[in-house]
Amino acid sequence: MLSEFDLIKQYFDRSRPGKAVLGIGDDCALLAPAPGMQTAISSDMLVEGRHFFAGEDARRLGHKSLAVNLSDLAAMGAKPVGFTLALALPSADQAWLQGFSQGLFALADAHGCELIGGDTTKGPLNICITIFGEVAPGHALRRDAAQPGDDIWISGTLGDARLALAGYNNELALTAEEQEAAGLRMHLPAPRVALGMLLASQRLARAALDISDGLVGDLGHILKKSQVGATLNADALPCGPVLATKDIGLRRRFMAAGGDDYELCFTAPVSSRDAIIAAGAQCGTAVTRVGVIDAAPGLRLVDADGGTLALQLQGFDHFAGTAGS
Ligand code: ADP
Ligand code: MG
Repeated sequence: MLSEFDLIKQYFDRSRPGKAVLGIGDDCALLAPAPGMQTAISSDMLVEGRHFFAGEDARRLGHKSLAVNLSDLAAMGAKPVGFTLALALPSADQAWLQGFSQGLFALADAHGCELIGGDTTKGPLNICITIFGEVAPGHALRRDAAQPGDDIWISGTLGDARLALAGYNNELALTAEEQEAAGLRMHLPAPRVALGMLLASQRLARAALDISDGLVGDLGHILKKSQVGATLNADALPCGPVLATKDIGLRRRFMAAGGDDYELCFTAPVSSRDAIIAAGAQCGTAVTRVGVIDAAPGLRLVDADGGTLALQLQGFDHFAGTAGS
């Protein structure tokens, strides 16, 4: 049986020189922030049975636990620096730890984001990561910065993660190929870090967030904080390739209110349009203009002809228990 310290040493302490002044092994890690930069900090917890199914593949879980945190940095336009990992494990299952740490470090290395510490305890499987990034003063993409007349943009595509959930929950019958393809969006989200950093450093966007609980609900946070409204064109929303084969009602519902996409939703002045398209091309991420910020409060969903769509579209609320992912 592995001791707590052997477990940390074997799977998480890679003892390689990194950006941190002091990494794993002392009471605290030490970071030396780049002069003049602000530190962006975010935590996200993944709970078995709530955010992932019991028995979920460990490698995918390692990827996803860090991906959702990197996505928060992306939504702020911050550059990843390091993260801590607080882990409750039912047992020291070496095959699980091997897979989890591989998935985690593959994504961490791809983003130059170092594991600098954490905590390990026995308990029901629970993974909490706190991530640290840096952003120049005044460059962070805040939720309170949208202005009337701004375009609303979405990165990538929406809805396939929600479709995968519908398949797993037997809300819908999917073929094995559809389940596998849509499932990749749910299990292996790609945090849009490069895009977020370009939008912030080139001052192209104003407000941004990442879509974890569904576009309509999440965009609502920007509207509330910025004290504005919005009109979204449901027919302009970029559809995930698997969902694109389904009927229009389902497409609209899952694109507008499905969770777990981890795409960026951001607002930007009309003058940024060409530069945003260039930024998307530069980092290989599709960017689609889907609506406009209005001075009048409220969120209006219209179709391509401008007709108003009345849809029951709530984001996911863990305590209210509304539908979603
Ligand atoms: P303390 O009791 O002082 O909080 P711990 O014994 O919990 O320290 O942890 C020892 C060292 O290992 C610390 O530097 C801590 O940050 C690190 N650590 C513990 N668990 C993890 C983990 N899951 N991933 C990375 N580092 C960890
Ligand atoms: Mg501790």
